[in-house]
Amino acid sequence: MKKYKPIDSLESPRFCGIRTFMRLPHVPTAEEADFAVIGVPFDTGVTFRVGARFGPEAIRSISVLSKPHNIALDVNIFDYCSGYDYGDLPIVPGFIEDSYEKIEKGLSPILDKGIIPVLLGGDHSITLAELRAVANTHGPVALIQFDSHTDTMDSYFGRRYNHGTPFKRAVEEGLIDPEHSIQVGIRGSVYSKDDLIVPKELGLEIVTAVEIQQIGIPALIQRIQDRVKNANAFVSFDIDFVDAAYAPGTGTPEVGGFTSVETLQAVRGLAGLSLIGFDIVEVLPAHDPTHVTAILASAVAYEFISLIALKKKMQA
Ligand code: MN
Ligand code: MN
Repeated sequence: MKKYKPIDSLESPRFCGIRTFMRLPHVPTAEEADFAVIGVPFDTGVTFRVGARFGPEAIRSISVLSKPHNIALDVNIFDYCSGYDYGDLPIVPGFIEDSYEKIEKGLSPILDKGIIPVLLGGDHSITLAELRAVANTHGPVALIQFDSHTDTMDSYFGRRYNHGTPFKRAVEEGLIDPEHSIQVGIRGSVYSKDDLIVPKELGLEIVTAVEIQQIGIPALIQRIQDRVKNANAFVSFDIDFVDAAYAPGTGTPEVGGFTSVETLQAVRGLAGLSLIGFDIVEVLPAHDPTHVTAILASAVAYEFISLIALKKKMQA
């Protein structure tokens, strides 16, 4: 297999060249690889601040700082993996159903070849289209959702598709297997107590932020592992899982959340699971003047890729 890996930053300074994730080659043709990083710059599914359309650009820009060896997981990614930046999927700003069709269609060639997608949003509405494509290939998958919101509303303003509804739709459409799915980090205010009953009625497990703060990250990891077990799992990471102090650049920020340390610990805790796709969503650069949110989002995506490599290392 042809190996796709980053430009060597010991030979070419990392601030040079056109920005791709981690300085990977831009390969827009779904060639064989272990993973592909893919932008999905759609942000008109939000209910509050727009601007996550510039999330992929901001994450890619700072990701050039990432180096191939992950100290915490003790894995050198490109000893085990080949991966490239697929570019951005086509979307139609302002037209969510058209965008859903394009996202699903755009992602399919990657999934058809068994390449693991690492998607950079965009707002959280995009995950429904991603899950449609994933379910076409894998059937219903477990969902591991990091978020301060459940995103299981039935509708907003009479509309069924937006960033508050994707996981209700995903269960209704049979895209995810609720019995192995879990939503973690839920906090902040809701419209009514019933809002937290909905995900449970859908069959999803919820772990609130308050619970996590009582039981700690290692026990959270155990809860996730026990829930997902051997199921194929899609990881959907809304950056507002993180405390607004660490990730202010997002559309619906919530305080009382997790530090960057806790965030990385939790993500690394997914090691060993059968992870078939990832996204990181809701990064909004216009509210991220120091780029701290993009730095963390890039680090989370880096951990995702490290988990793919670690699985290969364990199987080698
Ligand atoms: Mn969300
Ligand atoms: Mn959220």
